[in-house]
Amino acid sequence: MRKKLKSFLKTVGFHIEEEPNTLFDVVCGMEFPATNAKHLSVHKGDAYYFCSESCKKHFDSDPEKYIG
Ligand SMILES: [Zn+2]
Repeated sequence: MRKKLKSFLKTVGFHIEEEPNTLFDVVCGMEFPATNAKHLSVHKGDAYYFCSESCKKHFDSDPEKYIG
């Protein structure tokens, strides 16, 4: 989907920045480089990444609190 939109926008002359390789930690609200994504939880089929083990634990104990 996204790729199609991108190539469409390119053909009509938009300059598209490459997607920044950052992830968002829903627990602490921090953005961090995808290369640091070592802490991952899967909730209802969606993957969530965390900056640290402690953020992951917070999420695991009450996911709805952070994504509701
Ligand atoms: Zn965090």
